[in-house]
Amino acid sequence: MMRLGYILVRAKYALSVPRIQAVAIETSSVCNRKCSWCPNGRYTRESGVLSEDLFRLVIEQLKDYGFRGNLTFNLYNEPLCDERLPRLVRLSRAALPGAFLYLNTKAALINNMYM
Ligand code: SF4
Repeated sequence: MMRLGYILVRAKYALSVPRIQAVAIETSSVCNRKCSWCPNGRYTRESGVLSEDLFRLVIEQLKDYGFRGNLTFNLYNEPLCDERLPRLVRLSRAALPGAFLYLNTKAALINNMYM
């Protein structure tokens, strides 16, 4: 049986450690624009995609953590350029029912893939 002092110390620690509230997973580094205000417009970097195994590992870790914050699938990229996106979103929703999932997108590709 746990002692009350131990429980209070654990509770105080749990309350003092901030919960992760937002996560951005850049599933691909591809963007079809070069806006002047964005690093994509100023710098070049290799285009590539995050491996799905690594994506799944991050989502599983967030699930184990009990993540209930905001999860987005982009950073300095256009998320709709990644054709895996619908699958990755479904996978994330199933694993993280309490999280808020969202995208920042220009929506220029939305007719091609998502309608
Ligand atoms: S990520 Fe967004 S802001 Fe940056 S270049 Fe692409 S469209 Fe423009």
